[in-house]
Amino acid sequence: MKPCATELHWPQAKRLARRAVCVIAVLVATMAVPLPAARAADGAAPLLAYGARVAGDDARTRLVIEFDRSPEFSIHYVANPVRVIIDLPETSFGLKPESLEPRGLFDAIRYGGMGEGASRLVLSAKGPTEVTHAEVKPEEDGKGFRLIVDAEKIDRARFDKLLGDQQWTGTVRAAKTDRPALAPARAPGAFVVAIDAGHGGIDTGAIGIVTKTQEKHVTLAFARDLVATLNREAGIEAFLTRDGDEFLSLPQRVQIARQKGANLFISVHADTLKQKDIRGATVYTISDKASDHLAADLAARENLSDEIAGIPLESEPAEVADILIDLTRRETQAFSVNLARSVISSFEGQIGLINNPHRHAGFRVLQAPDIPSVLLELGFMSNKDDEKQLLDPAWRKKVSELLAVAVRRYRQTAVANGG
Ligand SMILES: [Zn+2]
Repeated sequence: MKPCATELHWPQAKRLARRAVCVIAVLVATMAVPLPAARAADGAAPLLAYGARVAGDDARTRLVIEFDRSPEFSIHYVANPVRVIIDLPETSFGLKPESLEPRGLFDAIRYGGMGEGASRLVLSAKGPTEVTHAEVKPEEDGKGFRLIVDAEKIDRARFDKLLGDQQWTGTVRAAKTDRPALAPARAPGAFVVAIDAGHGGIDTGAIGIVTKTQEKHVTLAFARDLVATLNREAGIEAFLTRDGDEFLSLPQRVQIARQKGANLFISVHADTLKQKDIRGATVYTISDKASDHLAADLAARENLSDEIAGIPLESEPAEVADILIDLTRRETQAFSVNLARSVISSFEGQIGLINNPHRHAGFRVLQAPDIPSVLLELGFMSNKDDEKQLLDPAWRKKVSELLAVAVRRYRQTAVANGG
């Protein structure tokens, strides 16, 4: 079988679709339509997806998405669990949430921005699945284009072959990390703080119980406030890992912090819990063993972020076995715990905290070996009172100011202890 490392023009791809291991469709050359506009990154408007539907059963499922212009697309597969990835140029999804309700072969369908002019749909399948046919057709009224994707249930051996034959690294952006240097360059004298707004793009995070607000918007609004507040402190330089509705993988978040020479990393979240009555803030640090069930469940869900976005899990980097890194990690861990304590003492009596507000678990976003890191759950979108606060700019301002006090205090002790 011929792997599709090269681009196939559509009529050719169509003929090969049943056999092709992946389909990279470019423009339908024969269509009497203007070329699709350049990507938004070049100043043009993104594609608009304005309608969609899914139909089928457990053997065959068809997905149809309507666009304002002819979309370029490519299709890939990821295993464990089985996912079909449809990559698109930057697309604004003006879809009713129910229009892509999963059915047939698929039990979850997600879509959103992946950053740098790219968007993606991730179809999570119940079992091994193959796209047997995919094409772009002009609408009959001549007002747009539809992407039609047909998928079929296949056996595991065939799926393994599809995976083995496809030439795809799994990331939209090159996120390859070189072996990290232990002492990245930092701006002279400045204390650099990375503020990481949890989720983004295709990964919406939790959904508010009353207003249905997505966590990714709450975390970004708070992170922006926090950066502005920290930047008013003398000697502190704060920055955002993402400043838009875009997806960043968990390793990319850590990588951005390291590249900018961060002295601290704070990841901001507002997740949901099954127990709707639980509310209040929590500060998490990393550990191999979770402090409790709640922390373990939350870390497991947070660590799903890359899976949601269709990124294959990378194996642990080789340097984890390195003894120098191990020593650095232990030292960093002690500083992370100091930061968590500083945040909690700053919040006490001012901001609602859950019982045992310092917890720990294996959050992948907290694994920079050399940057003290905490994950701050501001509150829970599953609790209506917390949700109301999280959407209140005055409350966010108050929390930002208390965090700035905590960072300042942490910095004083860290400097005193040579950190
Ligand atoms: Zn979250």
